[in-house]
Amino acid sequence: MWLKMDALQPPGSFKIRGIGAACEHHATNGKRRFVSSSGGNAGIAVAYAGRCLSIPVSVFVPETASDRAKALIRQEGAEVFVHGASWQEANERALQTVDAETAFIHPFDDPLLWTGHATMINEVVRAGVPFDAVVLSVGGGGLLAGVSEGLDRNGLQHVPIIAAETEGAASLAAAVKAGRPVELPAITSIATSLGARKVAKRAFEITQNRPVDCVVVDDSAAVDACMRFLDDHRVLVEPACGAALAVAYAHAERLARFERVLIIACGGATATLAQLQAWQTSLA
Ligand SMILES: *Cc1c(COP(=O)(O)O)cnc(C)c1O
Repeated sequence: MWLKMDALQPPGSFKIRGIGAACEHHATNGKRRFVSSSGGNAGIAVAYAGRCLSIPVSVFVPETASDRAKALIRQEGAEVFVHGASWQEANERALQTVDAETAFIHPFDDPLLWTGHATMINEVVRAGVPFDAVVLSVGGGGLLAGVSEGLDRNGLQHVPIIAAETEGAASLAAAVKAGRPVELPAITSIATSLGARKVAKRAFEITQNRPVDCVVVDDSAAVDACMRFLDDHRVLVEPACGAALAVAYAHAERLARFERVLIIACGGATATLAQLQAWQTSLA
């Protein structure tokens, strides 16, 4: 097993790869303000990118956003606006503030992001690490689209992707089953960073054009995987990342046909140890 430790990115998750690339692109093209509607790792990454590029950032989050996430966004110097009961309302408000000088940064459905995420595969290939499968988590499918692009770029289009989701946030598995992207009625998993009710069209297309195996794990397996990963590697990640780790820790039979597996440890900054322990107790 190889781990791509994107949990160690400064803002805490892989998201800075794509979001950083998108923000640099928009800054070069004259945008003078960034807007996000993510109360999670995407919002944190936009705030971080804006600080690095000296561009002001506004992040619109719903009332349900955690205090910790809001604090992490503010810590990067961004302004947080709390609006509405759900992400839809916060997102609508965010979009109303977009003008000609503003770039709206989508959390997953943007080719600029995918090109940025693809760099993680370039790095693994350049490091000379051979692998015959990639395990990753899927929320809206931006990471999946980026890894797929990275594999293509490096002549690895035949390498299967194991796409992990949690029960209650499995919008990719639902799309594959239905034969088209479908909207989940609700997100019921604690892995809120995987909580896109519908995957990007591109993510679904990838499942039709290359080998992709969907694996759905329960919340309890995702949290247990986070705890084991903390002990094994001394790095704390969110259950969203735990979903991918749980494929190795709890569903190793799904990897039995591979010799060398690359797991994307995508990270996540919004969970604490106390929160993981509380989930472990309540899910037991
Ligand atoms: C965003 C995120 C994901 C899911 O990525 P998508 O591009 O939405 O599929 C997984 N894990 C963490 C920690 C994230 O922040």
